[in-house]
Amino acid sequence: MTPPFVRLAVPTIALLLAACAATTSFPAGETCLARGYAIEDDFIAARRGTCTRLPGGGVRLEIRPEISGRINPSPWFAFKVIPDGAAEAVVELVYTRHSHRYWPKISNDGLNWDPMDERYVTALDGGRSARIVVPLASDPVWIAAQEIIAPEIQDAWNREISAAAGVPLSVLGESKAGLPIHVLDSNPDSEDVLFLVGRQHPPEVSGAIAFFAFAEVVFGNTDLAREFRERFRVIAIPLLNPDGVVGGHWRLNLGGVDLNRDWGPFEQPETALVGDLLDELDASAARIRMFVDFHSTDKNVFYTQFDETDPPGFTTRWLSAAAPRITDYRFGKETRPITNYNIAKNYMFKRYGIPAVTYEVGDETDRGATVAAARVFAEELMRTMLQQEY
Ligand SMILES: [Zn+2]
Repeated sequence: MTPPFVRLAVPTIALLLAACAATTSFPAGETCLARGYAIEDDFIAARRGTCTRLPGGGVRLEIRPEISGRINPSPWFAFKVIPDGAAEAVVELVYTRHSHRYWPKISNDGLNWDPMDERYVTALDGGRSARIVVPLASDPVWIAAQEIIAPEIQDAWNREISAAAGVPLSVLGESKAGLPIHVLDSNPDSEDVLFLVGRQHPPEVSGAIAFFAFAEVVFGNTDLAREFRERFRVIAIPLLNPDGVVGGHWRLNLGGVDLNRDWGPFEQPETALVGDLLDELDASAARIRMFVDFHSTDKNVFYTQFDETDPPGFTTRWLSAAAPRITDYRFGKETRPITNYNIAKNYMFKRYGIPAVTYEVGDETDRGATVAAARVFAEELMRTMLQQEY
């Protein structure tokens, strides 16, 4: 039986359409009524600016970042199309800053996503805009820059991992908006620590997918993973910027700060939690031996240290061991000199001299290949650390 709210939904939109026929422009947060469909942005991670109805039946959506100042070119968008008779919605994305980067993903439930078919997506005006054709039937369709992995999905994953591997899960503290920032912390009795961080940058979903696969192996129940966790403590913070994810941010936390430029100052609530945790570890017998921070960019690459690490050559040994086992995932290793930016990788190297790596996954890298490669990288990292004398 159809629930009453669904039966009401269609006539309500039809009435609204009739009543608002004269309105052509709808600010963010307001249902945008087009001819035969509506566009909504009332869900977690949604982002669109003003929606303007075009004479031909399509709509133009402004895509704008969370601040007006300088920001990285990670133009996130996410909206929902509610059909009301039209066979398709023609949506023009107009970027107020930067240009079209993410290949749109489509979902029928907001949970399972696919890249849109090529025939439905056209970049226009040198990438300053893009046209998307959304085929419609009777049910809502979600469109987003990348798969939406909301904090509640991350939290469910945390609980599953914790239960399956018996790894304690706790709340490290709260984000600026009061959302919990979780930490998985296995075997605190071991002095030698592997430290993993995920999702400082909200749109970097391919990096999050790698994080999940990688951590599932490290927290897995194989002989290798069990041996590793007996020898090493693993501290993992899967989602450092929940507010940015909820807000559909391009880059920043709710304080308008790039968290991966705040390692050292630790002035934001989220990074301050990390700073306090590092101080706590330093005050104990714990020694961080390896640091991996998961991100996304235009290619698969590991950013590593320009200067020699302790132990020397570690990252090269790790990645060289993984490379022969990895197929369908081309990746590079690039050394980076230390800059004045307060980037996690640089900070951890400067503070501890350890191998500290940014694990970057291409925006559109095949998700299956991303998962398969992350599993191998995790296994070989565990083997390389187990072989290393500390
Ligand atoms: Zn990033």
